[in-house]
Amino acid sequence: MTYKDRIIQKKYQCEYYSKNKNKLKKCHAKWRFNNKDKVRMYKERDLASGMNTIYGKKYRLKHKEYHKKRKQLYVRRMKKILVAGYGGKCECCGEKNLEFLALDHRYGDGAKDRKENKRRGTSLHKYVIDLGFPRRYRILCHNCNMALGFYGYCPHKRRKKWIVK
Ligand SMILES: [Zn+2]
Ligand SMILES: [Zn+2]
Repeated sequence: MTYKDRIIQKKYQCEYYSKNKNKLKKCHAKWRFNNKDKVRMYKERDLASGMNTIYGKKYRLKHKEYHKKRKQLYVRRMKKILVAGYGGKCECCGEKNLEFLALDHRYGDGAKDRKENKRRGTSLHKYVIDLGFPRRYRILCHNCNMALGFYGYCPHKRRKKWIVK
């Protein structure tokens, strides 16, 4: 087979694959289902030789930017769903910019929750979404959150103002 022939063959294979993608996928899934022992054997062999980690590393390096972007989109999507579930704004001042908003523990049991839960960031967001937005949490902006942490109250909720005259 000449080089040209090989290119033509490869092109044909690619076209064939994209045309019959769903059919082939089903076929493969069926084969894996009927040959579970073989699948396990291949997996173990790859694990033992370290093949899959090498390939995984190479793959991840090659697609780094792509995955970074995908993750970023996922993080943003989760935060949007989370904030929307709690009314779409800071519970205290009504701030709506997502960059300013964060999940807060309504009853101040953040330390305890972090110790028991061990979830952080987006994984915590997903957990709260899956629970159906329990009252234990709320959305506050960083301003209101910080004021509460530092002074025990938020100036938005205080009649006596502490400002420079
Ligand atoms: Zn606020
Ligand atoms: Zn406030």
